[in-house]
Amino acid sequence: KLTTQLPHIAFLSSPGMGHLIPLAELAKRLVCHHGFSATFLTFTNFSSSTQTSFLSSLHPGISSISLPFIPLDDIPTSARVETILATIVSRSAPHVRDALASLKQTTRLVAFVPDLFGSDLLPVAKELSIPHYIFFTSTCMALLFFLHLPSLHMTTTCEYRDLPEPFLLPGCLPLPGKDFLDTVMDRKNDAYTWILHVMRGYNSAEGILVNSFEKMEPGASEALKNEKDKHPPVYLVGPFSRSGLDETDEFHCLDWLDQQPKNSVLFVSFGSGGTLSMEQTTELAFGLEASGQRFLWVVRCPSDKDKCAAFFDVQTPDNPLNYLPDGFVKRNADRGMVVPLWAPQVKVLAHMATGGFLSHCGWNSTLESVSQGVPMITWPLYAEQRMNALMLVHGVGIALRPVTQEDGLVKRGEVATVVKELMDGERGKVARHKVKELQEAAISALSPEGSSHLDLMKAADQWMNSVKESI
Ligand code: UDP
Repeated sequence: KLTTQLPHIAFLSSPGMGHLIPLAELAKRLVCHHGFSATFLTFTNFSSSTQTSFLSSLHPGISSISLPFIPLDDIPTSARVETILATIVSRSAPHVRDALASLKQTTRLVAFVPDLFGSDLLPVAKELSIPHYIFFTSTCMALLFFLHLPSLHMTTTCEYRDLPEPFLLPGCLPLPGKDFLDTVMDRKNDAYTWILHVMRGYNSAEGILVNSFEKMEPGASEALKNEKDKHPPVYLVGPFSRSGLDETDEFHCLDWLDQQPKNSVLFVSFGSGGTLSMEQTTELAFGLEASGQRFLWVVRCPSDKDKCAAFFDVQTPDNPLNYLPDGFVKRNADRGMVVPLWAPQVKVLAHMATGGFLSHCGWNSTLESVSQGVPMITWPLYAEQRMNALMLVHGVGIALRPVTQEDGLVKRGEVATVVKELMDGERGKVARHKVKELQEAAISALSPEGSSHLDLMKAADQWMNSVKESI
């Protein structure tokens, strides 16, 4: 058995398409270019129809196992997404142990690679003597934040938004407390305790793979490599973003884009889970209208209490278009298209007519925009998106940021101004030029001599060597 089978990797994706998508791309690359086979461990909890069809379309060299349902009856309904995710992952340890033990019997299992929420499961793999690495599906900056937050936690007691000085992470822009990862903004919330626990668990990984590349984050990536004695080795292996070939176009947005001039359309979308308040939906609608620019907007039902109300499933009983201002769709029919819930994002970004992306700055969306050379408008909502926005505007300079009021609202006039500037103004031109350069750098990072390809080879070699040692 051991000599004839391909070396095998077990990936674990915590619930949420934003985790599954990049992990699946990493798996595909290892299967297609590095001679591995793979199994995905996924969760029955919150498994959506989008997830099921995504898993069934994976490369034939990748199989999947759905772990048994994890009871969550004792978790309050008010719990944050992060608490739910970390609880599910932590409680799944016995199931993961069984799955890994059985894969070890039937395959040449050489590595266990959970996503960024999976650090609680690393000891399980260690017990079974399986090399165990984290795939960090976000930025180098966020990873540095994860690695350094425990010390800030020990030395401060105030809420982070009240910190008198920005947090100075090595190689990164100064990070004001108000832009910290959403999850840590309330130190009394269970989610904060969970995140600290997850972060501390990173030290038990044998390596951390990051979905970023050197040119995207020159300072942060160098800092991670320089402080290598302080944490497990870091491999910069990205950008992994989807090809989009499997995307379906239920609402014919691509046909509509075919009718629009080159670079003329702003794509507006808030990731797999993002939602706006009712008031913000109205302001955005009037702002897009006032901008006079063409737009393609993926609309969700508004939620006044949560910015990621659609995180576990985008489906809603209501039609989101009912929440748009009266007559909006009709008035804008000649230059705007609205799509409920979901669009084939990669194909839209790749389309000639798309010239800008108003995005919540989720990391996958950001990498997809970079991979297609589309400049952005930042509209961060949750998770690490404010940190991403900061880097996109002030670091690589590929995005413009609208001014937000004290209460967090972006008014219609500001929407119109920033949209016009991106699509038609000087600052938009500069951002477009910079994102094209970054697009080239992304292609080159993944090419056979590129930095990301070489880093992935290094990790793959470690795994291969672990098989040789065990034979
Ligand atoms: N996505 C999509 N169509 C949509 C909304 C989202 O295909 O209408 C995909 C998007 O292309 C990206 C992922 O969902 O690959 C969202 O991931 P991201 O990290 O940007 O945000 P998250 O959903 O994790 O907040």
